[in-house]
Amino acid sequence: MRRIIVQKFGGTSVADTEKIKNVAKIVIKEKNNGNNVVVVVSAMGHTTDHLVKMAKELSKTPSGREMDMLLSTGEGISIALLTMAIQAQGYDAVSFNATQAGIYTENVHTKARILKINTEKLQHNLNEGKIIVVAGFQGVTEDGEITTLGRGGSDTSAVALAAALNAERCDIYTDVEGVYTTDPRVVPKASKLKEISYEEMLELAHAGAGVLHPRSVETAKLNNVALRVRSSFKTDDMGTLILGVDKMEIDKPVTGVAADLTQARIVVCDVPDVPGQAAKIFSKLAQENISVDMIIQSYARKVSNTNDIAFTIDSADIDKTEETLNKLKETLHCGEIQINSDIAKVSIVGAGMIDRPGIASAMFETLARLGVNIKMISTSEIKISCLVDKTDANKAVQALHDEFELASDVIADVKGDLPPQ
Ligand code: ADP
Ligand code: ASP
Ligand code: MG
Repeated sequence: MRRIIVQKFGGTSVADTEKIKNVAKIVIKEKNNGNNVVVVVSAMGHTTDHLVKMAKELSKTPSGREMDMLLSTGEGISIALLTMAIQAQGYDAVSFNATQAGIYTENVHTKARILKINTEKLQHNLNEGKIIVVAGFQGVTEDGEITTLGRGGSDTSAVALAAALNAERCDIYTDVEGVYTTDPRVVPKASKLKEISYEEMLELAHAGAGVLHPRSVETAKLNNVALRVRSSFKTDDMGTLILGVDKMEIDKPVTGVAADLTQARIVVCDVPDVPGQAAKIFSKLAQENISVDMIIQSYARKVSNTNDIAFTIDSADIDKTEETLNKLKETLHCGEIQINSDIAKVSIVGAGMIDRPGIASAMFETLARLGVNIKMISTSEIKISCLVDKTDANKAVQALHDEFELASDVIADVKGDLPPQ
C-alpha cells in the first residue's frame, strides 16, 4: 500500500496565484515520490483577518453561527484554486470542504473540537490516485451546521486528518523554516530547533508561539503523529521535527521564549470571601465557552473580608466576558469589574527546567533589570509565564532570549508580513 503524506499550507504560502503554483509544485513532488497526498490549506494571505474586520464593523458581538458561515468561506477559495493549479499540471486532484471530507466537530461555534473524521470518501479518492485538497479550519456538526476550529485551526485539521488516515507524516509548510527558540520576527537571531518535544511545543503554542495551533500539537501527541514544521519557500530544509520527549537529549534549561499579545486581564474586585464565588464566576464563563488562562485570587482583606479575583482571557472574548460578568454582579455582591487589554503574557518553556532551581529567579531578575513590572505569574512543570504591559513584551522576549543563551549567529529567513494586531 502507498504511504499517505498530509501536507498543510498556511495563508502566506497561498497568498496569491504565483504562490499557489509554488504549492502545487511541492504537492506534485510528493506525489511523484510515490506517496498518496492529502493537502490541507488555509485562507489566502490575510483573508480571515479581513473577514473578521468586516463582521466587527457590522456588530460588536456577531453570532457565532454567522461568524463560522463567514470565516469558512476563506478556505473554500484556496482549495478550489490550488486544485485547479494541480490539475493544470496534468495531475488528478479534487477539492473537498469539511462537510464533503467528513470532518465532524462538536456543536460549538468559533472554536469547535474535531470529534471524528469519516475517511471512507477520502480513502476511495486516494485509491483512485487522486491528490486530495481539503479546507482547513472548518468542520461540520452531525446536523450539518458549519463550524470553525479557532484562529490558526488549519494545523489541527491537518494533524487530525493525518491521525485518522494513519498517515506516515504530517508536514506543516509555513513562512519560516521551522520552530525557533522564539518568534524570528521579534528576534532575528533566534535559533532554529532541529527537534522539540510534543510537551514543550504544546506549552510554547499555548504561550503564544503562533507557528502551531495548540490543539494540533495535542492531537499529534495523543495519536503519535510524526509532525514537522518546514518552509514553503526553502523546501530542501527539513525544518523542525516534533517528537516524544524520551527520544531527545535535553541540554539547556530553557528551549524557547514566547509572547502572547492577544490576552486581556479581567479583575473582579471586592468579591465577598465566602465559599462558591470562584465556582460561580468560572462555571458561568465555561457555559459561555470562554476559556480562562492565568487565575489569581488575592488574600482576603481582613477589614472588608473580600478578595480580588483576576484572570486572563483571549481578547476576542472581551465583550462576551463583560456581558456575562455584568449579569453575575448582583449574585456575587462584588465591586467593579476591570478590563485591561494592554497586557501580554511572556513565557519561558523548557523540559530542562524540571528540578533545576534558579530558573524562575533568573527570569524575574531579567525583567527587573529592564524595569518591566510583573502583574501576574503562573507556572507549570516546564513553563513560567509573567503578565506584563504589552509595550514591554518584545524587549522582555529579547532579554530572556539572551539571558538563557538561545541566540544563533544566523539571521532567520522570514517570509510574508506581520499579521495586523
Ligand atoms: P501560517 O499562515 O503558515 O499558518 P502562521 O503565521 O500561523 O503561519 O505561523 C507562522 C509564524 O509564526 C511565523 O511567521 C512567526 O512569525 C510566528 N512564530 C511565533 N513564534 C514562533 C517560533 N517559536 N518559531 C517559529 N515561528 C514563530
Ligand atoms: N484561516 C484561519 C485563520 O486565519 C485558519 C488558519 O489559517 O489556520 O485563523
Ligand atoms: Mg498558522
